[in-house]
Amino acid sequence: MRIIMLGAPGAGKGTQAKRIAERLQVPHISTGDIFRANIKNGTELGMRAKSYMDAGSLVPDSLTLELVMDRIAGEDCQNGYVFDGFPRTIPQAEALEKALSELGQKVDFAVDIEVPDEDIIGRMGGRRACLQCGATYHVAYAAPKTEGVCDRCGAGLTLRDDDKPETVKKRLAVYHEQTQPLIDFYRNKGCLAQADGTKDVEDVFCEILKLLGV
Ligand code: ADP
Ligand code: ADP
Ligand code: ZN
Repeated sequence: MRIIMLGAPGAGKGTQAKRIAERLQVPHISTGDIFRANIKNGTELGMRAKSYMDAGSLVPDSLTLELVMDRIAGEDCQNGYVFDGFPRTIPQAEALEKALSELGQKVDFAVDIEVPDEDIIGRMGGRRACLQCGATYHVAYAAPKTEGVCDRCGAGLTLRDDDKPETVKKRLAVYHEQTQPLIDFYRNKGCLAQADGTKDVEDVFCEILKLLGV
């Protein structure tokens, strides 16, 4: 199954995408994680993406698409995947449609996690990320066993540079302007599934599984 996740920054896309991918035994592909790993390793892609990410803007479509097309050609993607954070613009969605249709494939579900802006600000301040393995925590709602330490790999947890309140406001504005139109794009394609993201992580997951029929 080919699934994409929609929703504001902090809506819970990563949290749910990881669970869905595990359930369906397909890769979880987070463009944000890939960019962050490249920045950490000092690659050219990372250097090109960093200034946009720090400013809370989107990385240009051409750079993002290059990375995504390369990734979905991988052997492990042949039975499907869960995209998290891609597509984020109409041109990205159209490029994905085109690439898939050339292979006789399509997006099966666009899962949109709905959370009002007021709730997002609080969630992001409490988010803690492991830059080593990509795990995500929340100081109140999903705390690690030992404060500041990743349960999965033992690395130290950090507050992402772009999760500071000023940058979160900018990212929300970018979301409303450039990414929210994808909800209608996928509604028109007949594959939109909307879930209430204000509920507990477990309840949101159950709602999504029902929508996917798995
Ligand atoms: P969040 O988890 O808050 O939704 P991500 O980790 O998905 O954030 O993305 C962090 C940043 O990485 C974005 O603000 C943007 O700068 C960049 N980015 C990630 N995915 C894309 C994409 N598909 N197109 C353009 N920029 C992207
Ligand atoms: P996104 O990938 O959409 O930016 P994340 O999955 O990283 O969102 O979640 C953002 C923050 O909110 C994280 O700290 C995460 O632990 C927390 N979170 C995710 N889902 C929920 C939920 N249903 N209720 C409360 N907090 C949540
Ligand atoms: Zn880790």
